[in-house]
Amino acid sequence: MNRSITNVLFGGFGATITKGDLEIEGEVKPVSPEDTYFILEAASSVVFVPGYGMAVAQAQHTLRELGDILEENGSEIRYAIHPVAGRMPGHMNVLLAEANVPYDKLVEMDDINRTIASVDVCVVIGANDVVNPAARENKNSPIYGMPVINVDQAKTVIVLKRSMAPGFAGIDNNLFYKENTRMLFGDAKSSVEAIVSEFKKS
Ligand code: NDP
Repeated sequence: MNRSITNVLFGGFGATITKGDLEIEGEVKPVSPEDTYFILEAASSVVFVPGYGMAVAQAQHTLRELGDILEENGSEIRYAIHPVAGRMPGHMNVLLAEANVPYDKLVEMDDINRTIASVDVCVVIGANDVVNPAARENKNSPIYGMPVINVDQAKTVIVLKRSMAPGFAGIDNNLFYKENTRMLFGDAKSSVEAIVSEFKKS
């Protein structure tokens, strides 16, 4: 009682887990904006998963532009919102509304998780803790058992962030090492702009 949703979902942090402790396997596979264009151009369904980094980069407007371009290209576009993505309740909803993303394109975590295996590409924009598969896979993780968006179960995942740095919880993320994950390193707004520019060139 009297616990905020953040507290309920992510209230147990305290330990820092190193890569060694997590026994993470696999390697990081960077991807260029050009190759990201080719992946997205061929996708029938794309789900954007925004997090705190989208707010830092103020990438919501250019993200919406990319969403519009992909829709014109024939893809189904949705924006999956984790309840504690960002740094305050409703953070992502506010930013996406500011960018005029239609409300009916927003999907809640439980709804997207039910169908995520059929999604061609999940694009993670500055989210980290809220997409960490350790919540399902690693009993030693402080976030084990917490609800996350299971982006790793999509066919392909593209993660936009600047580095391998952890998020708010301070723990490593084995999503970044998965076979179906590609890392597009850089500021999220610049990266989305670079993808948009590849579409405009084509
Ligand atoms: P995280 O804090 O887990 O991760 C954000 C990621 O954004 C970082 O790993 C960072 O990586 C990346 N980032 C930062 N700046 C940029 C940029 N300019 N361009 C691209 N990427 C960037 O965010 P999530 O939204 O996934 O999770 C929210 C966390 O905050 C949870 O742990 C939650 O419990 C907590 N929290 C949420 C509250 C809420 O009410 N929503 C309140 C308090 C805490 P890099 O540095 O490599 O770019």
